[in-house]
Amino acid sequence: MSGPHLQVSETFFSQQGEGVSMGTPSLFCRLQGCNLSCGGQHTVRTGDLDSGATWRCDTIEIWTQGQRYSFDQLIDDWSQKGWLRALQDGAHLIITGGEPLLQHAQLAPFLSHLRRHCTPVYVEVETNGTLAPSASLIEQVQQWNVSPKLANSGMALQKRRVESAIQVFCDLSPAAWFKMVVSDPSDLQEIESAFISPFQVPKSQVLLMPAASDPVTLEQVLTWLVPLADAKGYRWSHRQQIAQNFR
Ligand code: SF4
Repeated sequence: MSGPHLQVSETFFSQQGEGVSMGTPSLFCRLQGCNLSCGGQHTVRTGDLDSGATWRCDTIEIWTQGQRYSFDQLIDDWSQKGWLRALQDGAHLIITGGEPLLQHAQLAPFLSHLRRHCTPVYVEVETNGTLAPSASLIEQVQQWNVSPKLANSGMALQKRRVESAIQVFCDLSPAAWFKMVVSDPSDLQEIESAFISPFQVPKSQVLLMPAASDPVTLEQVLTWLVPLADAKGYRWSHRQQIAQNFR
């Protein structure tokens, strides 16, 4: 297939399960590929934790797969399913991954194309914060859900913390929200020393989010995360898609 396209792992309609838009009806478009492998260097191949990781990305088996869709194929499909109407009625379009900014050169033209068929559209992009978006993409996106990764991801510091990219997202505040995945109370120290202080991330834009891929672990982490967030003056986020096993 020639012409403009996106490499897509899946699309589905659900509710946003986490972050500041939790509960919002949303069309999810998951793009294929990621430049990280949270869970460890070998976890994509083995399915196990390694490299010191304490949690594993819960979508690896999805974003490693995908198909090429032309812009018109995607928009026709969404129209037939009634999803364009839902967007016009206020549902959010959530571009997620994987790391969707790996396809950033196609994303801005896709969103322009979409808006010729459907307007208004509120667009959220979920990113690990290692790739800076272009100016043309910034114009098309209303909300950035940035989730920089900590040492608990098992990723090397130079791969997961790209200063120039993080600075761009900080400058996009308040359109940028920072979702930090926490698996141990000590992670807060790293969040503050490695991200909040050096980049002057506004504390009001930070959400602490439990590291979990099943409901039992989620509840266990929340028992200490909620009081910790309260004591330190941070917002926290549930992960309803894990708690209720929905997508
Ligand atoms: S950056 Fe996100 S999508 Fe990529 S491996 Fe980590 S958690 Fe998964």
